[in-house]
Amino acid sequence: MYDLVIIGSGPAGMAAAIYAARAELSFVVLEKGVSGGQVLNTSDVDNYPGLPGISGFDLAEKLEEHAKHCGAEIRMAEVTEFEKIEGGFRISIDSDDPVETRTILIATGAQPRKLGCPGEEEFAGMGVSYCATCDGAFFKNREVVVIGGGNTAVEDAIYLARGCSKVTIVHRRDEFRASKTLVTALRKTPNIEIAFDSVVDEICGEDTVTGVTLRNVKTGAIRNVPADGVFVAVGTNPVNLGWQDSIPCDAAGYFLAGEDCATQVPGIYAAGDVRTKDLRQIVTAAADGANAVYHIDQYLAELAAQE
Ligand code: NAP
Repeated sequence: MYDLVIIGSGPAGMAAAIYAARAELSFVVLEKGVSGGQVLNTSDVDNYPGLPGISGFDLAEKLEEHAKHCGAEIRMAEVTEFEKIEGGFRISIDSDDPVETRTILIATGAQPRKLGCPGEEEFAGMGVSYCATCDGAFFKNREVVVIGGGNTAVEDAIYLARGCSKVTIVHRRDEFRASKTLVTALRKTPNIEIAFDSVVDEICGEDTVTGVTLRNVKTGAIRNVPADGVFVAVGTNPVNLGWQDSIPCDAAGYFLAGEDCATQVPGIYAAGDVRTKDLRQIVTAAADGANAVYHIDQYLAELAAQE
């Protein structure tokens, strides 16, 4: 039985792995896809202390290298269910025997939210993308549309404007949610057009995307914007593994947990974007990883004292 199973290898999971190794816990990291989490979808990470301008890809790689250097084992496995057993938990995984552990740290992060408009599903991968850094290069010298008003959308628009002939950023209000620094940079980029108070009624196309139909929410006016690519950046949903019936979550599906990352189920912790918190950033996810392991270590000591 492991002391700890960490689910997810984004910044929260990798920071937890580094701290777990240093605390000499027996642990494994389970990751269903590529290490890195949402950081991989970020072009330039300019707010992680000490690493100005590092790319999301490079930061993800460094986090993984660091955790492995400390001795972390990262195993490719998709977690399905967990059950309570004597002294801990049994976690079922898709392609292997179950794993037994005294504690669980869920660090599964969040995934892109869908718009839900006609054409979105039909043209997914055929012009509709949720990752500008992954797919932007396909649209060199073409026109694209970015949907959203948060940091991701504004960053994506600036990033895409480097290679695309024109970027239209569509936001449902007349004020961005994104940070002032990013909005200033956006406004200074000549080939970006801002469409405020607008929503996408439809993503249009034949074999691939040809444009979007926008509706002005104040005037009701409809207009078509030609585009070869549509980048959706309207926020994220938590990846709670469908465990919300066993581990209490808020209405949006984030695990209820404070700075100690303890969920309401003793022995189960949640770190990073998947827990309730005010600020979802790489730096706060990494901080969660450290805090979680500090409290897990104390919990394990209490368990040991009871045995
Ligand atoms: P976000 O901050 O939640 O912003 C989502 C944006 O999409 C909002 O502008 C929202 O509009 C809009 N939106 C939501 N649902 C919509 C819908 N159905 N139709 C149209 N528009 C919709 O999400 P995010 O930008 O992905 O960022 C997630 C978190 O990561 C945030 O905490 C963010 O600060 C952080 N992040 C940080 C950085 C950085 O610091 N460099 C980079 C990326 C992300 P309203 O504004 O009207 O609600």
